[in-house]
Amino acid sequence: MSQIMEMLIRRGFLWQSFEIYGGLAGFIDYGPLGNGLRRKVEDLWRKYFVINERSVEIDSPTVGIEDVFIASGHAEGFTDVAIECSECGRVFRADHYVKEKLNLEVDPTIEAVKSVVSEFDLRCECGGKFKKPEHINLMFETKIGPGRGKKGYLRPETAQGIFIAFKRLSDYFRHKLPFGVAQIGRAYRNEISPRQGVIRLREFNQAELEFFCHPGEKKHPDFYKYAGDVVTLVDKFDKEHRISLREAVEKGIIAHELLAYFIGKTRRFLLEAGIDEKRLRFRQHKDDERAHYAVDCWDAEVELSYGWIEIVGIADRTDYDLSRHAKYSKEDLSVFVPFDEPVKIKRQKVIPNISKLGPVFRDKARRIAEELEKLENAEGDVLVVIDGEEIRVPADFYEVREVEEEIHGEKVTPHVIEPSFGLDRITYAILEHCYDTDYVDGEERKVLRLKRWLAPVQVAVLPLLSRDNFVREAERIADVLKESGIFTEVDTTGSIGRRYRRYDEIGTPFCVTVDHQTFEDGTVTIRDRDSTAQIRVEKSGLVKVLKELLATEKDLKEFGEIFKS
Ligand code: AMP
Repeated sequence: MSQIMEMLIRRGFLWQSFEIYGGLAGFIDYGPLGNGLRRKVEDLWRKYFVINERSVEIDSPTVGIEDVFIASGHAEGFTDVAIECSECGRVFRADHYVKEKLNLEVDPTIEAVKSVVSEFDLRCECGGKFKKPEHINLMFETKIGPGRGKKGYLRPETAQGIFIAFKRLSDYFRHKLPFGVAQIGRAYRNEISPRQGVIRLREFNQAELEFFCHPGEKKHPDFYKYAGDVVTLVDKFDKEHRISLREAVEKGIIAHELLAYFIGKTRRFLLEAGIDEKRLRFRQHKDDERAHYAVDCWDAEVELSYGWIEIVGIADRTDYDLSRHAKYSKEDLSVFVPFDEPVKIKRQKVIPNISKLGPVFRDKARRIAEELEKLENAEGDVLVVIDGEEIRVPADFYEVREVEEEIHGEKVTPHVIEPSFGLDRITYAILEHCYDTDYVDGEERKVLRLKRWLAPVQVAVLPLLSRDNFVREAERIADVLKESGIFTEVDTTGSIGRRYRRYDEIGTPFCVTVDHQTFEDGTVTIRDRDSTAQIRVEKSGLVKVLKELLATEKDLKEFGEIFKS
């Protein structure tokens, strides 16, 4: 187990679920510290992608009915290629197994896997031969209701809940594109052989934004904010670029401004959360790698002890989802987009002859006329369907005339740009990137250099001695800090040095110490996690100083005279 993983479990950030029953790969519990940290990452995401975006947030069920996933393509296409051992019956995800055992990248297709397995005589870890590779669907199936029930699935992404509510959402935005709809919540994927600890989970947390735009206007008015940002891109031909987003769009490396906008915004979000810029890149999916719904996709990848890992996927899903749901649900999921100026057009119009239709078709005549009017053109006898009955309408019951019409707009099915974030991977990546070792007083120290605002415990109040009056005073101070909204703990156990190390290791940016002098002049010390420097401040001004320190990256020396512990 890596050092960081050992620390995260020991200190209560996270651990394997169902531990007392032997645990199960792909599930983790967030402990008190991990839960606090992930929630703060979530809040930051909300600030970037909901509050400071043209978007709203919704919350839909995690269980979905089968119809949704037939329409979305997941029932058929959300699969991985797996290989099963004919001896021991273990099943592996083929591309991961080939990478692990042969250090080869294999295309995730049946054909490619078959040929690698036979060429290298790839065997199971037990020595057994593999059966023919096959596609395995990653969705968890379930049954809704008793008895035969209704077939359902746990959602493999939060996005579908947004697409199927599109009509209501479009009403909410008064049908004005562009607009975004976000959702944060659990997603489930029955991963085949998750061996990467916290990276590949079967139940995980997603934060997704579906940004609906006009197909011909893949732009964002705020692009200028990120256009000059220089990013590391790896294009689909594996070529690396260090380039500004504006230039990347101009050179056609990134297909359009809206994708570039979200790459820029994602980068700023990740940096603010504590990801190390030197270990961050954006990689474009190769043509055979993209999900079934995407025409272009860029992953934010970070370098971790597991290698380069995708933590965000930014995809151009086009009108794939809305068109599919419109087709399967038979609902109109388009938006009427008005033109700046009305446009005059000439078109053919089918005009029913009511005086002829009436006597022949009687009570059906009006509805037949309506069906005829819907046609764009007609010739000869026409078949219309009324209540499932096919009715032949002779050619002399209507006429086709050219008419001039004023058009005020057009119906379009919006396209969707989707930045999709895995909050668990991001949280873990922040922890790895912030975990550091240095030397203090000749001794090695482990320190988690989390951004101050992100630390799950922001301040620890430590009585120098475990005497009653010291502890009571520490608790009084902690109560005041908590009331002002600062995440605070009191710790009375062990030497003060050990306690400082404990809080350094979980990333607590400041320790407040109650010492002898506190009882003489009403002052306490504040110790900074990163430099270990201290200042002494009046108790009465403590909240103000700490609040400012936590909200900024200001140095301790701006608030008092530094001394070393
Ligand atoms: P995708 O829909 O596959 O592009 O996934 C979107 C994001 O969800 C990815 O960038 C990951 O951060 C996260 N993610 C996908 N699959 C898993 C998984 N099995 N465990 C944890 N996070 C995942």
